[in-house]
Amino acid sequence: MTEELDPFKIAQQELDTAAEVMGLDKTAHGLLREPKRTVIVNIPVRMHDGSVKLFNGFRVLYNDARGPGKGGIRFHPSENLDTVKALSAWMTWKTALADIPMGGAKGGVICNPKEMDDYELENLSRGYVRALGNVIGPKTDVPAPDVYTNPQIMAWMMDEYSKIAGHEEFGVITGKPVEVGGSEGRFDSTAMGGMYVLRETAKLAKMDLKKAKIAIQGFGNAGKFAFDIATRLSGATVVAVSDSEGGVYSEKGLDYAKLSDVKGKKGSVSEYEAKGAEKVSNEELLELDVDVIIPAALENQITDANADKIKAKIVLELANGPVTPEADEILSEKGIIDMPDFLVNSGGVIVSYFEWVQNMYGYYWTQEEVYGKLDTIVTRSFKDVMASQKKYKSTGKKISPRTAAYIVAVDRVAKAMKLRGWY
Ligand code: GLU
Repeated sequence: MTEELDPFKIAQQELDTAAEVMGLDKTAHGLLREPKRTVIVNIPVRMHDGSVKLFNGFRVLYNDARGPGKGGIRFHPSENLDTVKALSAWMTWKTALADIPMGGAKGGVICNPKEMDDYELENLSRGYVRALGNVIGPKTDVPAPDVYTNPQIMAWMMDEYSKIAGHEEFGVITGKPVEVGGSEGRFDSTAMGGMYVLRETAKLAKMDLKKAKIAIQGFGNAGKFAFDIATRLSGATVVAVSDSEGGVYSEKGLDYAKLSDVKGKKGSVSEYEAKGAEKVSNEELLELDVDVIIPAALENQITDANADKIKAKIVLELANGPVTPEADEILSEKGIIDMPDFLVNSGGVIVSYFEWVQNMYGYYWTQEEVYGKLDTIVTRSFKDVMASQKKYKSTGKKISPRTAAYIVAVDRVAKAMKLRGWY
């Protein structure tokens, strides 16, 4: 990994930019540049052939001044501590911007879930929880799904934690199936929140979404549902989509049901066939002549190497960290509205928070209630970001939506630390 693309350095750089603009107290800045706690574990896992394999895992609690740590767990072959640290920092800003009473955390295990069967995945999930012990808990640090983890994995983890605790502890983890304490609306909440942000951004850009063409990079927890919701709710046309194997483009638009079927049967959306449809690479997809691009896969997808080639008017960052700070600047010079990840994809953690509240109360809400409350919070966050941008503009400082969002979030965390006497 080059120094420039180390996600944690990027996260620190983004914070530094905001700290300077807002005149953040130096001690608070120093505290916010590093995680509070980093845990590294080696997890012995019984594999299908009877052998025992050791997996390396992490859990980083970045900041819990505003409440228990919150953030997903990724199972990925190229997972590493610096990425997890960056993601835990971004979770801190995400929960603060949404103004939910939680902090930021993240976890990861270096593994390739595509090469593991359910038996091995279950053993790894339970092993991860056993290895972490009291590092996680409903009042300390509450994990959730992320890249290549899902509700079933959350259910195993909750079960293991409950066994160790000696009582049911649904609130230890969110993103669970609804049958075991999950919340209605959680599975597509990241995409749903992103669509609320798109609705507000389109108003700002005076874009009619019914006529808009969208390209989505990624067809996982976020990208897949973004496709479905974007077409159903906003009437936009999704013309391109991809996954780790590659993508497909059709000027006329793609069929969601058919794509899901192809993905399920052939393993990749790039196998989609239709008249007028052609294959595109993940790089080409981002450079298509469309109105909106939605990076919904991994970090560092739009960098100073390709930012100049982006033609869309809106970049909606549904993934975590898809745009580097250099690219952010290039996009803003080109007049492209780049909506930052920790606003766009905050729907996931907001509904995770709802799930945790419901688990604590033992009283559950309908999907309509969940979506309604989600819309209220996401729209409020969007307005907070716009107000912050406007405030600095009036003093002659032109800042990007990302820096504006950082300022709102950092200010909230710094205030909480101050009130608690941390500095
Ligand atoms: N993994 C999601 C994120 O990056 C959700 C985290 C959560 O629900 O705690 O925001």
